[in-house]
Parts: sequence; structure tokens; C-alpha cells
Amino acid sequence: MNQCAKTQFENSLEFARSLDVDGEWAALRQQFILPDDLSAASGQSCVYLAGNSLGLQPRRTRDYIQAELDDWAKLGVEGHLHARHPWLPYHEFVTNSSARLVGAMPGEVVVMNTLTVNLHLMMVSFYRPTRERYKIVIEKNAFPSDQYAVASQAKFHGYGADAIIELTPKEGCDTLDTDDIIALLQERGSEIALVMLGDVNYLTGQAFEVDKIAAEAHRQGAAFGLNLAHGAGNLELSLHDWQIDFAVWCTYKYLNAGPGGLSGCFVHEKHARAFDLPRFAGWWGHNKQDRFKMAAVFDPMAGAEGWQLSNPPIFQLAALRASLELFDQATMPKLRARSVKLTGFMEYLLNSLSAGFCSIITPTDSKQRGSQLSIRFKGDGKELLERFKQEGVVCDFREPDIIRATPIAMYNTFEDVYRFYEVVRRFSGEQK
Ligand SMILES: *Cc1c(COP(=O)(O)O)cnc(C)c1O
Repeated sequence: MNQCAKTQFENSLEFARSLDVDGEWAALRQQFILPDDLSAASGQSCVYLAGNSLGLQPRRTRDYIQAELDDWAKLGVEGHLHARHPWLPYHEFVTNSSARLVGAMPGEVVVMNTLTVNLHLMMVSFYRPTRERYKIVIEKNAFPSDQYAVASQAKFHGYGADAIIELTPKEGCDTLDTDDIIALLQERGSEIALVMLGDVNYLTGQAFEVDKIAAEAHRQGAAFGLNLAHGAGNLELSLHDWQIDFAVWCTYKYLNAGPGGLSGCFVHEKHARAFDLPRFAGWWGHNKQDRFKMAAVFDPMAGAEGWQLSNPPIFQLAALRASLELFDQATMPKLRARSVKLTGFMEYLLNSLSAGFCSIITPTDSKQRGSQLSIRFKGDGKELLERFKQEGVVCDFREPDIIRATPIAMYNTFEDVYRFYEVVRRFSGEQK
């Protein structure tokens, strides 16, 4: 956000409310159930700023799951073909919406398994280490599951801890410079087999300049993969145009598909027929026309679907269908524009507090962040979190001193952001 855009804000509840009058967004918010049990003590509605951890439940989700329960009760095994949304091709019902979300062609995406599982499946195919080139580049503070996954893949191929190159911020910094990442790739390019980044870092909220980094990784001869757990449904993405080799994401954070939600997976078109790559196979990746001929030899489908293993969990897919309809309705460009404004408002308000009480570690440039702000507070973060709880504000805390607050464009309001700020402001006054 530029300076001019920042000064569009005013520090008052009336001003926040004036930004909430748009009926279209108010109607979208109505599509979600606010967890008001969490704010019962405050006597107010819940200010839910943890949608980057678990998104809220769309009202229609219950009906979509109920419909599958009803069809199963009525039709038994016949539901595979005759349910209102037949189970056999059910995963295809979320393909087009998923492709739109990440900037892909439909043949490049599939929803299957859960996130870390897909990360492994993708590395089976796209981490191809050799004696000279076996290293994996990842952020130092990557989500632990990603760190375990890359380290165990290296080990699986017989390599030790030196196979992992960690991207580390400069002394005294919390976030990474694109130029430093590029420089590292240029310096050590010949050793690197795979660059694997979270496109928005879960801890700092930093969004990487993925197109530039992917281009350099490719110039150096490395594969480039993305974990979009904090990017899908948050940022506008163009995976196809950026030539990303593969990407995986979960659907329970920004995508509101519920706890344990399924994972999306992207494989670039250029690999659609890479049948010579190693891959772990299962019958759901076998050619659809004769999947039920039960042939002994695996004949993979072209495109991302060829990486499927099992017939998918229909209830989870039903929940995802319900949620993705709302993304199709809202559209990513509009969600992103609103997100930039909501997050900019939060930043503006926090910056008005006395210097030294809190500092935002997420980059100030809106191109280098999504909805989330990661905020370091002086004093006892846990005490502040307890205060949030009493006031019906839900955020989360990451050891040792970071609070993550995420206004979600789909359902949070400018008033939510203001109420969050008010709690912080009162708390900061008491800390003096
Ligand atoms: C949320 C998240 C995960 C969680 O993985 P699951 O397999 O869905 O449990 C992994 N990696 C990142 C970067 C995440 O943000």
C-alpha cells in the first residue's frame, strides 16, 4: 500500500463503520456462522481474526454434507452413480473453482488427501537428487511439517542434514529479502535440486515474490514447489503463468472447508505427461475409462489427477464445494482488494499506538503480505491474549512473543479490526 492509500483512514469507530455499509460484503458475512460462544463473556459478537488457522463455517455447509448423508441412506452403493452429486466424479465438482483460485488450468489441479501427504507425493516426483545436486532450499522458519517433510525426503534418498539449505533473515531482521534469496540461488545453484517455499510464511506473514524466485530457481536448474497453505484464498495467484512445477495447499484455513479439510494439488501442464517421473500410484490415478476393469498395470491419467491415490472423502469434498461457491461469488480480485484495505486499516491503527509497545514484523509493502499481520508485543503476550479472550477477540499466539491477527476479507469487517485495536490500545495504556 502506498503512502497516499494509508492516509485514507481515520482512527474512529464511526469511520470503521462507514466502511462497512457496503451491502454486498455484509451479505457475504451473513453466509458464515460466527462462533459467538467464544465471545459470550464479552456480551458482544465474536471478532474472529483466526481465519488463517481455521476458517469459519459457511451456513450452507451443513446442508451440503446432510445431502450426502441422505443420499447414502437412500441409495447405498448406487450413490456412486446416482447421488444428486454422484460420488464417482465428485472431486471434479471442485476442480474449476480450485483452478480459478490458484491461477491454473483445470487439468493442472486436483483436490485429494491432506496437505503434508500431498507435499510428500509431489516430492516423490519432483525432488530428483543426484550426487552433485541434492539440496533443498526452504525458509528457516518454515512450518514444522514442511521442515520434517523435506528432511525426511532427503533422508529417504540417503542424504543427511547438509541436504537442507535454510533461508535465514539478515541479522536483526525477521523477514527475507528477495534479493538475498536470488543471490543464494545464484551462488549455490548447481547444488540445488528443489526450492520449496511457503508463498506466505505462516509465522511472519511475509509473501514471497514467487515469480522472480521461481524464474531464478529454474535458471539454476532446480525444481520449484510452493506450499500455499497461507496463500490459497488469500492472495491472487498465477501458478500456471509463473511456471511453478508443483504446489499444494490446505482448505481449512482461508478456504473455510472445515477441520481436517482436504488438500489441493497443482502440477504444471508441462509435467502433465511426465509418466517417466517416479510417482506413488493408486487406483484413483488410473485412467478413468477403465479404472473398473481392475487391470494389474497402472495406467496414469494425464495431468494432476494422475497423482490421486484413493477414492476421496465425500463429506469433506461437500464442505469444500459449499465454501468454494462463495469464492466464485466473491472472486479473488475483489477479495484481495478488500483484504489489502482491511489489513492496511489494522496496520494504520496499530501504528498510532505509542512506539515501542508493539511492532509489526510483517512487511509494510502490501505486495509482500496477505491478510495476516504478525505483531510482536512488549510485555506478556499470553496476558494480552487472555484479555482478547475476555473481550471476544480471537487471534493466536506463537512462541515466544508473536500474535497473529488476520482480518479475512470474506467475513471480517472494519469494525472487527477497530474492536481488536481498542483492546490493544487499552492494554497498552495499562502497560505504561
Ligand atoms: C497449516 C500448514 C500445514 C499443516 O499441514 P497438514 O498436513 O494439513 O496438517 C503444513 N504446512 C504449512 C505451511 C501450513 O501452513
